[in-house]
This record gives sequence, C-alpha cells and structure tokens, in this order.
Amino acid sequence: MKNIAIDGPAGAGKSTAAKIVAKKLGILYLDTGAMYRAIGLKALKLGINTRDIPAVEAMLPTTSVEIKYVDDVQNIFLDGENVTGLIREHAVSMAASDVSAIPAVRLKLVELQREIAKKNDCILDGRDIGTYVLPDANYKFFITATAEERANRRFKELMEKGQNVSYDEVLTDIVTRDRNDSTRAFAPLKKADDAFEFDTTTMSIDQVVEELLNRIK
Ligand code: C5P
Repeated sequence: MKNIAIDGPAGAGKSTAAKIVAKKLGILYLDTGAMYRAIGLKALKLGINTRDIPAVEAMLPTTSVEIKYVDDVQNIFLDGENVTGLIREHAVSMAASDVSAIPAVRLKLVELQREIAKKNDCILDGRDIGTYVLPDANYKFFITATAEERANRRFKELMEKGQNVSYDEVLTDIVTRDRNDSTRAFAPLKKADDAFEFDTTTMSIDQVVEELLNRIK
C-alpha cells in the first residue's frame, strides 16, 4: 500500500491540501486529528477533566471510535453517533490536545490508523504520522506557517461556521496546542528526519497542493 504522511502544527494547511491531493490521486484521506477530537468530545460530554489521566483512561474501554467514508468524505462515529460536525467546535480543540498526551489514548487510536493505512492507499495528516504511526511511509511532509497566519486561517474557518470566538482566543489556543503537542513525552509533534519540510505562510492552497504533488511521483 502507498502511504503519504503529512505532519505539522494546527492550521498549517495540512487537511485542506491533503483532501485535494487525495482526490487528485484517487486515494483515501485520513484526518487523524478527528479521532483525538472524538475522544476529547467524549470526555467533555461526560464532564471528565481532560487532564485527569486515570479518568480518561477509565473511559477508554467503553469508548468506540469508527471511521466511515460517505461519498469519499470521512465521517467519524463516537459510540455509534456521527459526531463529524460536533468535533469541529472550538472547545473540542483543547480537549483533543489534552487527551492526545495520554499514551493509552494514542495507542488505541494509532492501532486504528495503522489498520486503515495497511488496507488502503492513503494520505494521513496529523502530528506523529511520519515519526511514529507510519515510519515507513512512502512520502513524508512536514508543513508549517507562522502562528499568526495559522490563527488567521482557523479564525476565518470558525467564522464561516458561525462560531462565536475571537481571533485572540484562536491564537492563544494555537500557541498552547503547539506547546502541548511538541512537548508531550509520547509521540510528540516533530519533523521526521526524512520528511520534506516547507513553510506555507505566504502560499495559497493551490501552491501547497502543487508542491506536494510535484514531490509525489
Ligand atoms: O489536527 P487537529 O487540529 O484537528 O488535531 C486536534 C488535536 O489532536 C491536536 O492539537 C493534537 O493534540 C492531536 N493530534 C495528535 N496526533 C495526531 C493528530 C492530532 O496528537 N496525529
């Protein structure tokens, strides 16, 4: 199977570009962040503190996360409920970042990611795909942009969805998540040694897609 890994911090343009590349290549797109968001959402729903490791761990055996493709679009199911829209709420971002630092959460989700990657040609986006989930991926990318530009992009997305959040809140969230994600002990956000890195701050999505496709033969 052919696997393409795209890692980088929140808002670097990974998911938008990966979706387009997947369509052009006729392969699957797997958004791994959605899985961490689903676990974060479950903790929020149960009123569990997302930093309380034993409480989050205790919830895992009775938590099911499934990915289904509907007309080539990834839908995510939490305990049988389609939560594809709900996981995009701003509050879920930090919850996802908190629970993603818990090794038991990562082990559960990485197993599912590897299973999907083994069965399908696919492009995966996340934080640890090239370093931990699929160290033997055929192509690896690490994409970045300044925190301000990434916050700008996220802010616009959230505004379009009618969510009530300020630019400053989005920027603080991005900077905090970057710090959490890159300093956690287990599978942190990190460029794989053999990944191709580029900065998308001044690039359009079309340019990002072109850069990726030029390198994927
Ligand atoms: O990609 P997205 O911003 O939706 O991811 C939400 C959170 O999930 C990230 O801030 C990160 O903490 C976590 N995540 C992760 N590993 C991945 C994908 C996402 O830790 N492979």
